[in-house]
Amino acid sequence: MSDQVFHKIFCSQCRGKIEFPAEYAGQTIPCPHCQTLVTLKIPPADPAQATYDYPDPATLTPAEVAKGQKTKLSIIYAVALLLGVNAVFGLFLLFRSKPSGPLEGVQVTTWKLEPGEYRTFYLTGAVSNSTSKVIADARVDFETLDGAGAVSGKVSAVVSNLQPNASSEFSVQTSATQTVWDAKVVGVFLNKK
Ligand SMILES: [Zn+2]
Repeated sequence: MSDQVFHKIFCSQCRGKIEFPAEYAGQTIPCPHCQTLVTLKIPPADPAQATYDYPDPATLTPAEVAKGQKTKLSIIYAVALLLGVNAVFGLFLLFRSKPSGPLEGVQVTTWKLEPGEYRTFYLTGAVSNSTSKVIADARVDFETLDGAGAVSGKVSAVVSNLQPNASSEFSVQTSATQTVWDAKVVGVFLNKK
């Protein structure tokens, strides 16, 4: 199904093999073996011009074969790392696309922060709609705070179908990578799609 092209290069520092999809050429990543920053360059098509050593599989010792198998895992790690970087960047863009201002007449009436599983937290609470309209899709934005009270991230809870003159509960989980000592409400916004 996939006709994705992969390239192989060797780390200039530790000579570890790094395999990457062609579309990642030009990116700089930490070497999965030794963490030295490596720029993913497409090797020359003509092997005679290659500045990298490609061992002949027939001459590999068992130790080198074992190392090769370890390298497979490293490749998966390198690709996962790239995907991770993209995911973080994607989230950043998401947070940057600010919605319209806070919803008039809609407020967080109560909320609490509770520890969840593995370094995560739950922000649960309720919002009230004191307007006469149904709000199809509202979003409660929180900022998470670190131990020094500085903003460490954001998290948003979505509340759907908020009835007029009624309350609705919400719950959202923070990310395990977020430092959370406390949180504060930013506001309730229209959740535009
Ligand atoms: Zn390396």
